Amino acid sequence: MAIDTVNPATGETLKTFTPLTEAEIETKIALAERTFKQYRQINFSQKAQWLIKAADLLETDKQKFGELITLEMGKTIESSIAEVEKCAFVCRFYAEHAEQYLADRHITTDASQSFVRYQPLGIILAVMPWNFPFWQVFRFAAPALMAGNVSLLKHASNVPQCALAIDRIFSQAGFPSGTFQTLLIGADRVKAIIQDDRVKAATLTGSEHAGQSLASAAGDALKKVVLELGGSDPFIVLESADLEMAVATAVTARMLNSGQSCIAAKRFIIADPIFDRFQQKLVERYQLLKVGDPMLADTDIGPMATRQIRDRLDAQVQKSVQMGAKLLMGGKPDFDRPGNFYPPTILTDIPANAPAYSDEMFGPVAALFRVKDIDESIELANSTVFGLGASAWTNDSIEQTRLINELEAGAVFINGMVKSDPRLPFGGIKRSGYGRELSSEGIQEFVNIKTVWVK
Ligand code: NAP
Repeated sequence: MAIDTVNPATGETLKTFTPLTEAEIETKIALAERTFKQYRQINFSQKAQWLIKAADLLETDKQKFGELITLEMGKTIESSIAEVEKCAFVCRFYAEHAEQYLADRHITTDASQSFVRYQPLGIILAVMPWNFPFWQVFRFAAPALMAGNVSLLKHASNVPQCALAIDRIFSQAGFPSGTFQTLLIGADRVKAIIQDDRVKAATLTGSEHAGQSLASAAGDALKKVVLELGGSDPFIVLESADLEMAVATAVTARMLNSGQSCIAAKRFIIADPIFDRFQQKLVERYQLLKVGDPMLADTDIGPMATRQIRDRLDAQVQKSVQMGAKLLMGGKPDFDRPGNFYPPTILTDIPANAPAYSDEMFGPVAALFRVKDIDESIELANSTVFGLGASAWTNDSIEQTRLINELEAGAVFINGMVKSDPRLPFGGIKRSGYGRELSSEGIQEFVNIKTVWVK
């Protein structure tokens, strides 16, 4: 994939970049290796000062960074600015909590003292997607740098200016040269980098295919990997739920990032007695959504990030309809319009083998399912290869307990939408990946958990 800035709202190529040569990659890995030897000795309070400075820079220039995000990947300007603010939050959060999360853990044994010490691993490769081009990077980098690691970023090829801006933020914040470096490279160069002896581990947020490819290369070299992959999150609404609140949240949860979020609600599983009312209210709210220029404040849904994503989504919708799914609204993009726009779409009566039933739909398409009771809702929710998040709505405490215990997901949110929060661990099970980001679990992924025993 070419490394370019292409405005998804117009299709115009605004800037092209030349990928790094082998020699340039080597120079950056060598610098990271040298930097790590010094950087690992730096105390928490100094690292926290730099990270707080990074948060300040993000907040001061949130409009500028927000515009860059919107320009490169098409989300609405309001959500881009909110993303930048959330990056500042995660920086401040780890600046404050890293030392406590990585403090020695004393354990009583037959030794005079025994404890666990958490030490950095070295160079961590981060392979990141375009959908939250700042947030995905910062949620990895803030804990990784506080833990004393250094990082190489291979960002998605359609957000090179975001990648370079993040690199500059870390250096302007005061982190030593080589602590965080962006590599403008294609996906074909990732394997050689993870197999380089100086690179100790990797994290990838993206598709299943990319995750498999990185994990197998890392597996060959016996290196640790954290994978944050796709999802087809259920959004279950049972009879006792607050229906108005559930429908309003359903729209937000599906339309997050113009539908291009791993934890967007994708399958709406609704109990039979309230199904018709839920469907009607959902259609009414969908009809109010404004699709258009993402730089305008009153736009709800911008273009899909790339033409390929728009076309893939449309193929999934059309195939589902051919197989018997009913189109309640949308599903007919205007291919003559410049940009990668896709209309808000609702599908129902979806047969079990249709793409809308089993695949991840990465765009503003809601799949509606009618179920007779909680048993059927849990069975349907779990009948997917994914296991990222799940949102479930009920005011019955026995049902809440069952949903918490029985949903196969890395996170269950009751009467709320799935969202990431620096204070809570984030990650999936099944084909949504493994490992965790954020909270104490996130910072402990890329450390040597060293056992110390003193006689
Ligand atoms: P993608 O194609 O997998 O791209 C993600 C990153 O992986 C990019 O930097 C890409 O580089 C790189 N990549 C692609 N193929 C690779 C390979 N064979 N080896 C190594 N690196 C490779 O993902 P996407 O389709 O843009 O992103 C959407 C997917 O990410 C969805 O499935 C979504 O659910 C998932 N996602 C998951 C989370 C989570 O936290 N679980 C968060 C956000 C998104 P190029 O751009 O150069 O191809």
